[in-house]
Amino acid sequence: MKKGVRIYIMKVYCRYCKSLLYKYQKEGLGSLIKCYKDRIIEDYTQKDLKCPKCGKQFAREATIHGRPASKIIQGKVYVKK
Ligand SMILES: [Zn+2]
Repeated sequence: MKKGVRIYIMKVYCRYCKSLLYKYQKEGLGSLIKCYKDRIIEDYTQKDLKCPKCGKQFAREATIHGRPASKIIQGKVYVKK
């Protein structure tokens, strides 16, 4: 982990039905582009990258900097601290 980078606990919600999808440890305050799998603290989905309530896909499987991640599809989620 890089020094001097603050970690924020974010809740990631479905934009359509407001279901909670992830609790996520995010580095810094920039917009959420991806969620590294090993930083997801609580996963409320079926791990299929779809909202468990309304079934909308909100992310794609990706490998970013060699780490498995959910790449967020822009506009499908919103976050709260
Ligand atoms: Zn939903």
